[in-house]
Amino acid sequence: MSSGPTLIDLKTERNRRIPNPDQIIIAGAGIAGLTLALALSDKGFSVQIFEKSATLAEIGAGLQLSPNATRLLDRLGVLERLKYASVEPQAICLQDGRSGANLLHLPIGETARQRWGAPYIVCHRADLQNALLNEARNRPNIAMQLQSTVTQYKSDAEGILVRVQYHDRIEEHRGALLAGADGVWSDMRTALSDTDRARYTGTIAWRSSVAVDQLPPAFAALMPPGTNVVAWTGANAHLIAYPIRSGQVINFVAVAPDRNIRRRWDDQRTNNASQDFIRAFAAWNQGICDLMRAGRPWTPWRLFAMKKCQFKIEERVVLIGDAAHAMTPYAAQGAAMAIEDACLLAAALATDGKKWTTALDQFSKARSKRVGAVVRRGALNQLAYHARGPIALARNVVFRNRPADKFVEGFDWLYGFDPEKRG
Ligand SMILES: Cc1cc2nc3c(=O)[nH]c(=O)nc-3n(C[C@H](O)[C@H](O)[C@H](O)COP(=O)(O)OP(=O)(O)OC[C@H]3O[C@@H](n4cnc5c(N)ncnc54)[C@H](O)[C@@H]3O)c2cc1C
Repeated sequence: MSSGPTLIDLKTERNRRIPNPDQIIIAGAGIAGLTLALALSDKGFSVQIFEKSATLAEIGAGLQLSPNATRLLDRLGVLERLKYASVEPQAICLQDGRSGANLLHLPIGETARQRWGAPYIVCHRADLQNALLNEARNRPNIAMQLQSTVTQYKSDAEGILVRVQYHDRIEEHRGALLAGADGVWSDMRTALSDTDRARYTGTIAWRSSVAVDQLPPAFAALMPPGTNVVAWTGANAHLIAYPIRSGQVINFVAVAPDRNIRRRWDDQRTNNASQDFIRAFAAWNQGICDLMRAGRPWTPWRLFAMKKCQFKIEERVVLIGDAAHAMTPYAAQGAAMAIEDACLLAAALATDGKKWTTALDQFSKARSKRVGAVVRRGALNQLAYHARGPIALARNVVFRNRPADKFVEGFDWLYGFDPEKRG
């Protein structure tokens, strides 16, 4: 083992090294990696995180966090830290993208707390990441090293040997287990097999945000009164809006097909695609057309998804979060699943003592089942949001006539999930 690079002690910001062969090594300090570090720290494990970026920057945009995620964040001491940056919407509303007619009004504010025992919140991804990081600063058994890319790993009888690229040199670190929380492009995952890469769905999520006081008047008039998550549906496309940053800014995500799927992405292509995208909404409600112009520049986020999720990849190597199951955002559950993965993995490792093989097998089986169900729900939501012609008419009839409490009941399995109540 070499002398090693500088480690960041989250608590004091001074250099620190935790040479501990029993430590759990985590690749990636995104939502999954940081949540796992906290959950493991709560169970008494020492944790070493390696993150390839130089800083944990303001990457991403808005996130909806449903009660299955916020309940776990609360137990980790993170929800309180998110309080001032997040917003608790009163309802989830669905409107027709052309006419602006209301299709569905689902009360979610009080309902979430009463029915599922935790709030439904919306926030910026960076605010969640900061809240996780600030909580991690309080834990003496978590260390993190930035600018460090996990490039290789090897299991042996004593544990796991992990190679880390730090600037121009390769470090070797020992641990008891490696958790790959390295996102949709997971090196951990692709090291195993080329066939397991996330595939392009041919769909783009265009993201933007507009300050509340700069919303075009026709669009503001379209928004239902109050603080809500609002979705507008249309043929092959949808738009979602909700407040972030303590409610001062509205986050927008518009999902539409990529019309030039085979062409290479460069600045020109992004510019053309952006114009195509805005044109695709030209027949929508005037308020939405005005918003499309006000929201410029819209940032394209090509949507990739995995065909099959995969957790345990070796005796001592496990994937979580997008690395294990990158999914489309139609059920708004990618980060929530990452948070669930992290808490359940820590619990599995703690309850089974050193019999990690069994613990990881059970964890993988349980998570594959749950994540599979969430992916299917996402596919259903996509069909409902993007329906056209007679199917859209039938959808509108169902949405208008089905009692709201029936819709709410349909979320019990998803939002009511509490690993601690499952024994
Ligand atoms: C348009 C859109 C809307 C979404 N909306 C929602 C929503 O409303 N609700 C929701 O729950 N989810 C939502 N999601 C999904 C959510 O953003 C992701 O599922 C979540 O951020 C994944 O977190 P992660 O920690 O697994 O991965 P990431 O956040 O990608 O983190 C991976 C980290 O690993 C680091 N890394 C990568 N490789 C290495 C390596 N080799 N060594 C060390 N570090 C490495 C990266 O730098 C990064 O910091 C949405 C996604 C999209 C695209």
